[in-house]
Amino acid sequence: MLLRTLLTNLRARSLPLAGSGMSIRFASTLAPLDSTKLTIEHTTTPKPKLAKEDLVFGKYFTDHMLEIEWTASSGWSTPKITPYHNLSLDPSTIVFHYAFELFEGMKAYRDSNGDIRTFRGDKNMIRMNKSAERIALPTFDGEELLKCIDKFLLVDRDFVPEGNGYSLYLRPTMIGTTASLGVGVPDKALLYVIASPVGPYYSSGFKPVSLEATDYAVRAWPGGVGDKKLGANYAPCVKPQLEAASRGYAQNLWLFGEEGYITEVGTMNVFFVFKNQDGKRELVTAPLDGTILEGVTRDSILELAKDRLDSAEWTISERKYTIGEVEERANKGELVEAFGAGTAAIVSPIKSIGFRDGRNIEVPVALGNSGELTSQVAEWIRKIQYGEESYKNWSRVAK
Ligand SMILES: *Cc1c(COP(=O)(O)O)cnc(C)c1O
Repeated sequence: MLLRTLLTNLRARSLPLAGSGMSIRFASTLAPLDSTKLTIEHTTTPKPKLAKEDLVFGKYFTDHMLEIEWTASSGWSTPKITPYHNLSLDPSTIVFHYAFELFEGMKAYRDSNGDIRTFRGDKNMIRMNKSAERIALPTFDGEELLKCIDKFLLVDRDFVPEGNGYSLYLRPTMIGTTASLGVGVPDKALLYVIASPVGPYYSSGFKPVSLEATDYAVRAWPGGVGDKKLGANYAPCVKPQLEAASRGYAQNLWLFGEEGYITEVGTMNVFFVFKNQDGKRELVTAPLDGTILEGVTRDSILELAKDRLDSAEWTISERKYTIGEVEERANKGELVEAFGAGTAAIVSPIKSIGFRDGRNIEVPVALGNSGELTSQVAEWIRKIQYGEESYKNWSRVAK
């Protein structure tokens, strides 16, 4: 106890070593993110709940938010659940000028007992820490943030809509809050989580989309930060999407390099299914080479496919593949199906891929609006998310 008090007093102060010109930094005494310190301030003006049919993605938020401040000298402060509120920041704040911002996207689901569940949040926490580390923002104990998020979910539990496809979208965010135009390591940060109830991505069954093979803009590149969920990666992708939309396509199929490697679709990972010469089917997605966002959905699909598809009939591959291969195999009748994968939709079936020179690849949709595996994996994941089936520790009940 005495030692603890002493350390707290010395917390993170740089003590000059007499005469040596050196200093010791008591970094290990910086306060860690600690969920047991969480405080809750309830709103006095609860919002009316919107009808489920009126939910629009990301426009309407719950009554509260979770906030945790960090400073380089003290570490993480008390986690707070407070009424949802505006932030007040100096116009010079580093986030506005140099994009010290990262985020996560995860969802909470209401199960048939009325319990609120999250899906593989530990993966989001690992990814969030990797994003933070990459832009010199502070890291934290992911399990501690998950415990705070659980409490936040319990406070706003009435906002978690009931029903298949309905969920509460969670947006953990971290920003650098140092008020200075100097480009450098932020000495202040704010981690916050807001939550928005959302309806089904597909309100009346799958709707397969047309993609534009995009080589006129590049989403991510080797040595870059495309594998991190940094805000800076997203604004530059909106204009290419507008361009694709002006030619009638829903999303960009992001290609990389002279070879035309397929990387991602819009803000989702992407999978293709081929019929191979050996009679087996192959489920293919690009490997995590630094240009691919490490999707939780992507990882879940790969793991479930390895676990549940018969290996005598299926090969599961993380390998490089090109738009040329897809075109050639479509021409030979070896392209079976294709889909995007991400938290928002789980899977998003693809029906065609067009090129600016007018070429077009038709992608089969055996079930009418999706391929067979597309609808199969969506159902596998949905059941785990809503607690209808348990799989490892993938679903966590908020307590
Ligand atoms: C968030 C995201 C994904 C999907 O990740 P999930 O964890 O499955 O939601 C894929 N690609 C990009 C570029 C993303 O930002």
